[in-house]
Amino acid sequence: MVDLNNISLTEIVKLVKLKKISSLELTNHYIKNIEKGKKLNCFITTCFDETIKNSKTFDDKKNYDGLLPGIPIAVKDLFCTKNVKTTAGSKILENFIPTYESTVTSNLWKEGAVLLGKLNCDEFAMGSSNETSFFGNVQNPIDKNLVPGGSSGGSASAVAGKLTPITIGTDTGGSIRQPASFTGTVGLKPTYGSCSRYGIVAFASSLDQAGPMAQNVKDCALLQEVISTYDSKDSTSIDFKRNQYSKELTNNIKGKKIGIPKEYRVDGMPKEIDDLWQKGIQYVKDCGAETIDISLPHTSYALPTYYIVAPAEASSNLARYDGVKYGFRAKGENLVDMYEKTRSEGFGTEVQRRIMIGTYVLSSGYYDAYYLKAQKVRKLIKNDFDEAYKKVDAILTPSTPSSAFKIGEKKDDPVSMYLNDIFTVPVNLAGLPGISIPAGHDSKGYPLGLQIIGKAFDEQNILNIAFAMEEKINFENKITDWWIKWAKIVQNIWSIEKIINMRL
Ligand code: GLN
Repeated sequence: MVDLNNISLTEIVKLVKLKKISSLELTNHYIKNIEKGKKLNCFITTCFDETIKNSKTFDDKKNYDGLLPGIPIAVKDLFCTKNVKTTAGSKILENFIPTYESTVTSNLWKEGAVLLGKLNCDEFAMGSSNETSFFGNVQNPIDKNLVPGGSSGGSASAVAGKLTPITIGTDTGGSIRQPASFTGTVGLKPTYGSCSRYGIVAFASSLDQAGPMAQNVKDCALLQEVISTYDSKDSTSIDFKRNQYSKELTNNIKGKKIGIPKEYRVDGMPKEIDDLWQKGIQYVKDCGAETIDISLPHTSYALPTYYIVAPAEASSNLARYDGVKYGFRAKGENLVDMYEKTRSEGFGTEVQRRIMIGTYVLSSGYYDAYYLKAQKVRKLIKNDFDEAYKKVDAILTPSTPSSAFKIGEKKDDPVSMYLNDIFTVPVNLAGLPGISIPAGHDSKGYPLGLQIIGKAFDEQNILNIAFAMEEKINFENKITDWWIKWAKIVQNIWSIEKIINMRL
């Protein structure tokens, strides 16, 4: 019997296709893991009866040729799933059951996957630690005292803790790459317009993008192949020729030019992060690529620009939650009172803060000074990348300025929380693809990630670079949490015993 916890999605798919394992066996395995890992608080909703039913239906089929045959998958609770509760981590959508399916999730089901449940996330994807969720914080399986990152914290924790073989998250300013970095997993934010936004609960529409999260680059490529499709239901979806990312994956990156932007060496950056970056530079050189020093002069404006553009769009998108059309409604004396009470009781503090900032920067009198100015700076940030890509094929940076921090450590300090996104937001503002891969550990044994940023629609190239680096890095998560460690020891003793008892 194979150890499903130690094989990749790609290998699982092979086993299903060879009929060495059934969809139902897989589902039962993940349900068991989810129950064991309940304390992580990764799931907002599970739908096991449906999962089992769908797995059985899959197993009864004679032939199947999808890319995800009978694979049970949990997804971030920001994707609308027909007839399955979708909360966006918010009280205001606590009982919202969509009547439609997001394009990205329907792509999963078309390829044969079955839904395991919906994963915890920061409220409306606003956060960097999964602590703004109405459904409570999520623990990092590396160490239960650490945040898993955010906003796709439930997704990252579920992949690292083996509660789902792969997952999808969304990334508006770093929400796939930062949690991937904090949990020692791989996360790709695709080019804006590559994956449909139809049916994803909107945060900041010009930045939001869905993307794959996995345990390794190959699985990530496979999932990207499934979710990246043109969609006429999303007016920002782009019709370009998509690669077969997993089939075209290669570790041959000889001669590639990789840019190293000097502005990413920010003041006060811990030495460990800088050391990791230097190691990354050596890894790409060992793979036969060449590194070139580049400049992205407007990098330091990215964070303030993001924290004007994103709240502005959020305040407009979240205007729809008025107690009339969706979900939660508070009792009020009259219509205005009902609106006020619904929104005050239904939204958490961080969401209210963003709505207030957004409304302020969009208000007449401040619009030109903040919002319009931010849009102009956004263009300058994009121009920096365009200029750099005249000289290089991709850019290498750290994913985050630190490793995972302690639960509660930054909760009451929004600015230090926002600083987490310093290396990821420029990519969203420029609409580019970026991938975070686990690349090392800090002195405490916590994972650290490196980010590879690509040209627009050049996902294949950054996946290839990541694939080549992954081979050199040979990363293994160091689980510091005692109960997972203990489970491993028990498992090892058990296998030693098995070896002793083996009749040779
Ligand atoms: N942490 C960032 C924020 O709070 C990014 C969130 C995201 O990418 N969804 O806005």
